[in-house]
Amino acid sequence: MDQIIGCPVCRVTVRPADYFCFNCGKKLRVLPLGVTTGDQMKLYIGSVFLAPMGIVWGLRYLQEDGQKTKIAGIIAMSLSVITIIIVTQFAVRVVNSVNSEISTQLQGIW
Ligand SMILES: [Zn+2]
Repeated sequence: MDQIIGCPVCRVTVRPADYFCFNCGKKLRVLPLGVTTGDQMKLYIGSVFLAPMGIVWGLRYLQEDGQKTKIAGIIAMSLSVITIIIVTQFAVRVVNSVNSEISTQLQGIW
């Protein structure tokens, strides 16, 4: 049953399923977040390379309806958290090895 509604701007008749008014281009409702395989790949890759952003995006996905969207949000947030942990451990290891390198060289001098 397609309920007929009108565009709030130009009053042309639009279908409730339309995202935009075909006549004036007015946005009629918010586009759902993408859950196609391509969209999810972009989300996950972005979550890894822009790690803190994945948590923000994940939260947005979690607020959407739909099991698939929520799962995508959880995966994006998990990827971000895992990436942050790995990067932090790597940074700590680099700092430690630089520190021991410096102290070895200092021992040579003193
Ligand atoms: Zn319109």
